[in-house]
Amino acid sequence: MIKVTDTHAHYDDEAFDADRYELLDRLLSESVNKIVTVGCAFDRWEAALELAERYENVYAALGVHPEDIYDMPSDYLERLRELSKHPKVAAVGEIGLDYHYDEYDREKQIEAFRSQLMLADELSMPVIIHSRDATSDTLEILRELRPKKAVMHCFSGSVETTRQLLSLGLYISFTGLLTFKNAKKAVEACAEVPLDCLMLETDCPYMAPVPFRGERCDSSMVHMTAAKAAEIKGLDTDELIRICNENADKFFGI
Ligand SMILES: [Zn+2]
Repeated sequence: MIKVTDTHAHYDDEAFDADRYELLDRLLSESVNKIVTVGCAFDRWEAALELAERYENVYAALGVHPEDIYDMPSDYLERLRELSKHPKVAAVGEIGLDYHYDEYDREKQIEAFRSQLMLADELSMPVIIHSRDATSDTLEILRELRPKKAVMHCFSGSVETTRQLLSLGLYISFTGLLTFKNAKKAVEACAEVPLDCLMLETDCPYMAPVPFRGERCDSSMVHMTAAKAAEIKGLDTDELIRICNENADKFFGI
């Protein structure tokens, strides 16, 4: 079994407080190649960076998730610009739109999404995008601002949306959700994504794949998602992992 790269994890999450370093030591020596840990709120950037500094094969992505844009300091973009210059910061993210709950302030989310996309462009950095129940606004902003390198993370959209994202040059990344019994849409989308635009992730501690669904997820579980993607693509799992690892290296410059 070859080691797998996890392009999207949240190791600063409190779910890892009890065993964070032990776990990462073990994962990186046994089954995991590289990890991008995403610090997705202003007060989580330092923790993500600390992990990237501690481990050679851990990189950070820093940004403000659409659910975390409230109570931001007014100079958050300045601070993000400064921290993003750190050599272990590999991307801006996750950023985007989340319309899941009616009370979310959509205008404010759009403003933060646009500002961070422009910052990524200014810094020539790749972008990790989160989009939930907000496909048409997300596509509209992507069409307008055209990020040079972006990945749609935890994807489970339609084949039509997949095609539109691919036409905008996006990479598409799948989590353990791909292995769920009811993941028909994600499976169809995965079949549509060319191998050179495909990436794998956990979004851990969330989204544990079958047979671990509902448990705490960690990066070793990308192997289950890889096995499912390999089945969809008609490839050997190791071969698919090799391709996705290379895509991640190229995308993040890691
Ligand atoms: Zn995430």
